[in-house]
Amino acid sequence: MIDNLVRENIRKLKPYSSARDEFKSAASIYLDANENAYKILSNETVNRYPDPHQQKLKEALALLKGVSPKKIFLGNGSDEIIDLTFRIFCEPAKHNAIICVPTYGMYEVSAQINNVEVKKVLLKADFQLDVEEVLRNADDNSRLLFLCSPNNPTGNIFKKEDIELLIANFKGIVIVDEAYIDFSSFPSRIESLNNYENLLVMQTLSKAWGLAGLRIGVAFGSERLVQWFQKVKPPYNINSKSQELAISALENKRVFDEYLPRILKARSLIFQKLQDFPFVLDIFESEANFLLVRVKDAYALYNYLASKGIVVRNRSKDEMCNNCLRITIGTEKENLDLIKALEAF
Ligand SMILES: *Cc1c(COP(=O)(O)O)cnc(C)c1O
Repeated sequence: MIDNLVRENIRKLKPYSSARDEFKSAASIYLDANENAYKILSNETVNRYPDPHQQKLKEALALLKGVSPKKIFLGNGSDEIIDLTFRIFCEPAKHNAIICVPTYGMYEVSAQINNVEVKKVLLKADFQLDVEEVLRNADDNSRLLFLCSPNNPTGNIFKKEDIELLIANFKGIVIVDEAYIDFSSFPSRIESLNNYENLLVMQTLSKAWGLAGLRIGVAFGSERLVQWFQKVKPPYNINSKSQELAISALENKRVFDEYLPRILKARSLIFQKLQDFPFVLDIFESEANFLLVRVKDAYALYNYLASKGIVVRNRSKDEMCNNCLRITIGTEKENLDLIKALEAF
């Protein structure tokens, strides 16, 4: 069924076959990939190409998430996965994608790079999805629908029923971007995976897992859907050091389990503290590791904090976010310095 949504050139594509695709079992002498057999860095095996299928890392994620490795796709950051969705499903200058604004900026940038039209549907006043308006905007050329939940920059999670209604009724691929799901008390839409062939749940190791520098985006989908991504991705899109370090982070979940509650505790502490400041007009409930805060003059406060060496994000130009700053939760010390600086404002 979803095969009909795939671009014709992708359907016809004969994918690149790497040396390691053609010989999969173990050997003692590898003379098949034109690598340099000598180790330039003596302690490292980076003279060899990485596993193009990232099998061990997928198995570690499969165990953690309770999903078959065949339903997992890994990208060089979520940004690569977003780009691939356009390249697999959207014919440039013909198909379109729907995004629900305000939201993460990369969906639109990626669409523009791929010359794909974006239809923007405003969230409702409570930052929840306007399901009817999304479906009204969808037409025969709508191939992708991006739902970011918890949403960046608003921080809220979308209602499960709304997301499911959209997956069931949208005729293209629905991407639920859960970059911040580990900070949320609500369950992942991975739970809905078995019910829908057109659902792609996107997560990342960049946020709660603290591995932004490794560039590892994770997508969960039906086997059929994942196969299309495997077909189109660059063969060695996740480098060997990233695969290695990600596996050790996942195997040392203790560390993750220790930091996560500290960030959540700090989030509610900062939320409370912010209420005391007269220049703070609104603090939005957050299921992520940041707070969206409406202040009297976002530009003035932004510049003041910057002069104190504290950088936050001014989201004032985003729809519905006039005079809003997005503040990431830092370490206990950083958060304290932030509060002190705000007290002196
Ligand atoms: C930070 C973020 C990502 C993560 O992107 P990576 O490329 O995996 O680092 C994805 N989606 C949203 C909404 C984000 O805020």
